[in-house]
Amino acid sequence: MPELDKAFEPSRCESHWYAHWLRLGVFTAGRDATARARAPFSMVIPPPNITGRLHMGHALNNTLQDILARWHRMRGHDTLWIPGTDHAGIATQMVVDRELQKEGLTREQVGREAFVRRVWAWKEEYGGAITAQLKRLGASCDWSRERFTLEPRLSAAVREVFVRLYEQGLIYRDKFIVNWCPGCRTAISDLEVIPEETAGHLYTIAYPAAEGGGVIEVATTRPETMLGDTGVAVHPEDERYRGWVGRRVLLPLTNRTIPVVADTFVEREFGTGAVKITPAHDANDFAAAGRTGLPPLVVMDEQGRMNDNVPPPYRGLDRFEARKRIVADLQAGGFLKRVVDHLHNVGHCQRCNSVVEPYLSTQWFVRIQPLADAAVQAVASGRVRFTPEHWVSSFNEWMGKIHDWCISRQLWWGHQIPAWHCLACAHITVARETPSACSACGRNELRQDPDVLDTWFSSALWPFSTLGWPEATPDLSRYYPTTVLVTGFDILFFWIARMIMMGLHFMHDVPFREVYITGLVRDAAGQKMSKTRGNVIDPLELIDRHGTDALRFTMAAMATPGSDLPLAEERMLGYRAFANKLWNAARFVLLNFGDAPPGAALPALPERGHRTLPERWILSRLSRMEESVGASLEAFRFDDMANAIYRFLWHEYCDWYLEMAKPALFAGGREAESSRAVLVNVLERVLRLLHPIMPFITEEIWQKLPHQGETIALAAYPQSDAALIDEPSERQIALLMEVVTRVRNLRAELNIDPGRRLRLLYHTSDDAIAATLDGSAAILAAVARLEGLARVDRLDQEGACARAVVAGCEIAIPLAGVLDLDGERRRLQRDIDKLSREEEGHARKLSNADFLGKARPEIIDKERRIDQELLEKIARLTRTLQSLG
Ligand SMILES: [Zn+2]
Ligand SMILES: [Zn+2]
Repeated sequence: MPELDKAFEPSRCESHWYAHWLRLGVFTAGRDATARARAPFSMVIPPPNITGRLHMGHALNNTLQDILARWHRMRGHDTLWIPGTDHAGIATQMVVDRELQKEGLTREQVGREAFVRRVWAWKEEYGGAITAQLKRLGASCDWSRERFTLEPRLSAAVREVFVRLYEQGLIYRDKFIVNWCPGCRTAISDLEVIPEETAGHLYTIAYPAAEGGGVIEVATTRPETMLGDTGVAVHPEDERYRGWVGRRVLLPLTNRTIPVVADTFVEREFGTGAVKITPAHDANDFAAAGRTGLPPLVVMDEQGRMNDNVPPPYRGLDRFEARKRIVADLQAGGFLKRVVDHLHNVGHCQRCNSVVEPYLSTQWFVRIQPLADAAVQAVASGRVRFTPEHWVSSFNEWMGKIHDWCISRQLWWGHQIPAWHCLACAHITVARETPSACSACGRNELRQDPDVLDTWFSSALWPFSTLGWPEATPDLSRYYPTTVLVTGFDILFFWIARMIMMGLHFMHDVPFREVYITGLVRDAAGQKMSKTRGNVIDPLELIDRHGTDALRFTMAAMATPGSDLPLAEERMLGYRAFANKLWNAARFVLLNFGDAPPGAALPALPERGHRTLPERWILSRLSRMEESVGASLEAFRFDDMANAIYRFLWHEYCDWYLEMAKPALFAGGREAESSRAVLVNVLERVLRLLHPIMPFITEEIWQKLPHQGETIALAAYPQSDAALIDEPSERQIALLMEVVTRVRNLRAELNIDPGRRLRLLYHTSDDAIAATLDGSAAILAAVARLEGLARVDRLDQEGACARAVVAGCEIAIPLAGVLDLDGERRRLQRDIDKLSREEEGHARKLSNADFLGKARPEIIDKERRIDQELLEKIARLTRTLQSLG
């Protein structure tokens, strides 16, 4: 048999095995007729941005997806996991903008076409980084089907969807208040606006009546917007303003007068009860202006500078500079009545952190309600199921207040909107192919709409555009709907909800049957990772230090549905130790295997009647573990799966079974052969069970064991075998384990050399127990280091002994000749005295009414726990002392 290296070196085998899998085409769906004959399992990757770098969120959700993909593949399902990347409109454009900046250039200077060429060049050079990182993570994606949201086929799908929605009246173009980012110079979605609590001011300004006779006071946090006021509104039933409605007021700092109008949206209790109306710079005001007929007046340009619609002194000023000037001028003119500190939420751009400006502009929108209704229904009827289930209510809550989706962005990198403006008649022609003439007047002076689509527009189509839609491809009919989507909660609305809407509308079926929403990976203290906090953990560094398998096992073991994952490196060290434990167990098995020829099949398990008690037991435990692993995966309990394999391998297989098998192994002959067969068969099954979590080490070891096939990745996933469940063996081994543990404890309490062979006496009235102990004398001798075992009628005549009780049985270790009994008695008495003094201190505290009245409950609980532990220790030592006579 081949040997394994002394220590497991992840970096030595990871890229080797990944290349092996690619060479064999393991990840390619439907690779042969037999695979195609099986039930499909399909999944789309949440496409990372091409600007992205693997972070802990990716590490978590791609590990979990890979576990599912590998598990289904090993179960024989025709498994498709589609990878790909997102062109990430704003993010990518900003990267190339910065490159240009370094060269002293701007986007406008190089022009749109050249700019877009540059972005493609950037993409070709750097856009594949995240893909290579996913490969390092071991992701078993079908790279032959890799997609990119801006590739021609997917762009065709985007056009088709746009045109159909437009033809169905579900896409329209209109003037509306949008969230405008003056930094990115584009509209952004509500979801990209991050509210930040900000200490600002509330300014109260007096607007004098135009014909004299009083003032109306209005308040604002953004005084620069007053230059765009086109009216003042009061509540129609507000007594204070009776007679004002219909009159005009003078807008300070300008030579304009504006009307006072009545509208019931004004809250009388709030402030002065009068509000300024700035239709072009506030969403509520825009709606009010629509009802009252006030015209909008845009006073800023797209970079947030005051434009030519304001008086000359303010033109060209940045909005915040203008604010200062306007406040000073209002003060000088006597219009500023009050300034008070005001804490309020100010929206910031998710990308560039600029303060977002509500801004009137002409944009394209999706009429969302008809699409939303169908999606809500699909979730309510269980056609899409969420794990954890509580996300359904978040989903419904958001869908309940959804409003039309602004899909146009003023960017150059993205899907340019397939709409052409006629320069002659202003008609808009929407078409799949570039039209040669205006569909209204027939002239050919057409210019394509300069805007591109929101990046989320193309990713909403991802589950079917990646499969070839709008063409009726074999992949589309075979793999849609996909089986499951695994993603983070932060894109529940950006992405999950929109995929459901688009899938239902265009495919008449949900895009996935199940959604598994992962928690958030946090730092060890439970804090959110952020660049500003400096607590970001880089998964690639963890891979370099501890290996991919250890990182993946950590992710799986911590992935409790509905919980975040506080990641401590110590925990990962524990799982790296687990990989070493597996490695060492495999080395032991291989070293004891003798010399089977390479390429041999696994030896058959011994016949049922010939199995020893430990063999029956380990096979029974294995089968139970296999059952729990299958059930865990069905329920997305990756944590339970990982922990079940961990416990079995570390504690049952390594700590107990390997030790118990040694006597048979060293005995030679048939016993040894049978023992080796069980050892290697159990190990091989554990490797297959563990492969979805730890693909590399399992392949490395599996290749050294007798095996059939070219890779463990295509070996069958073990299923539990009810015929192997053997309750009597579990009971009997539990008894042996208890006896061994007691003997070990007694050794420790009495400071007996762990290597010293001891005699063990036992007394029981239960013949079955006696039969188990006597039948396992050789095992007990090996594992507990005994020199003999004897059943006696009474234990009290055996002289000085260390004694203990196990279920249904008393045991004793004669100590004459083993210990200096007098010295040991003195030592025990000293220890008991010391612990008793300690315990009295705690007991006093716990009977002190003052302490009990003042201390926090958790402190009192802790005191009680310590006291209890001390009492138990004292009792144990006292028993040991008594047993010494
Ligand atoms: Zn921005
Ligand atoms: Zn025309």
